[in-house]
Amino acid sequence: MSGEQQAVWLGDERDVRVDESVVQQLLDPPRRRVLLLGDLTSDIAPVLEDLGCDHVQTAPETVVETALAMGAINAALVDPALLATDRTMHAVADLRALYPQMRVLLAGAPHELPAELLVQAIRGGLHDIIDPTDREGLRGALQTCLLRSEQEAERVLAIGAHPDDVEIGSAGALLEHRRRGDHVAVLTLSRGDVGGDRNARVGESVTAATQIGARLLLADLPDTQIDQGIDTIRLIEAVVGALKPTVVYVHSRHDNHQDHRAVNTATMSATRSVAQVFAYQSPSATNEFSPTRFVPIDAVVTRKVDVLSSFASQSERTYLEPELIVAGARYWARHLAPLARYAEPFEVIRSFIPRRAALSAPAQTVLSSPGPVAPMALSASHAFAGESA
Ligand SMILES: [Zn+2]
Repeated sequence: MSGEQQAVWLGDERDVRVDESVVQQLLDPPRRRVLLLGDLTSDIAPVLEDLGCDHVQTAPETVVETALAMGAINAALVDPALLATDRTMHAVADLRALYPQMRVLLAGAPHELPAELLVQAIRGGLHDIIDPTDREGLRGALQTCLLRSEQEAERVLAIGAHPDDVEIGSAGALLEHRRRGDHVAVLTLSRGDVGGDRNARVGESVTAATQIGARLLLADLPDTQIDQGIDTIRLIEAVVGALKPTVVYVHSRHDNHQDHRAVNTATMSATRSVAQVFAYQSPSATNEFSPTRFVPIDAVVTRKVDVLSSFASQSERTYLEPELIVAGARYWARHLAPLARYAEPFEVIRSFIPRRAALSAPAQTVLSSPGPVAPMALSASHAFAGESA
């Protein structure tokens, strides 16, 4: 999702409906991207082009910078000739850290690959083997792995009371979600009339959402008088029911602003079926705000500052000063030192991940009976045991 977009207007009706086209726009799969590690282009490029995939060939030495330039990658195909070196295995590990839902495939005819190489592939966490000379098998395996990678993308919904709340608290995490290929929607419940001109604030919200790559849904509840009761719950429930988020970000209940607390309370009811719910920090958060989850935002902290600069009508607010935004992120990264220099803090309200846990379990563990397990023949259609989602 990129370029200019319009907000989706939810208004202040009691019975909010989220149009199916909005859901489709949110869930439209991003461009499919495949990274080729080694000299694989001649056999594989025609199939990738047929499947509508962008693809770039690279070497282990340049894999991270190439991957970052490409954006969210669905799959990486590895030339067996490179597999024996530690550098390649480190490159694969770096790639999987960058893009957790990416599938990594070994491109070689299984019957021609030495056993040591296959062991190396298993140890390196590669997901499957595909034979580049088997055009139909290659096409089927790639389609399956692209689909699986897309299914594993999170659907993220970030909820805030006023324009700029979501962005101050979680723009870094949302940018990270987008970088990994997740779908992101922002639900802002009021137009912020008390804090400035509503039309200006709406325009700023649209700009900020575009910069994040998020779909924006704008309701029109009364600024400073947002109720925590059934109408607000139903509004949020309608959005949750339509978008079916797997991750929700919302205000903390530890906050001095009555609207923020009301949105937190209503969201607790409306998102009771969502597996992962986290509370972000607002400038009005109290000292009781007690985060235990810290998201590294080193790669996007500058972009977060840019996103917040969209809210020009609020530029007099000291909490939007770039120095404070960066200093706050630097402070919270103390919990991650020395692994990160900038982080966003979140309270964990719920964190339950059944789908990913099921996917990451080795097949034998899920299916085996108490007896000995027969060796599994490796073929183009077998995923490696030990794969992780
Ligand atoms: Zn607010």
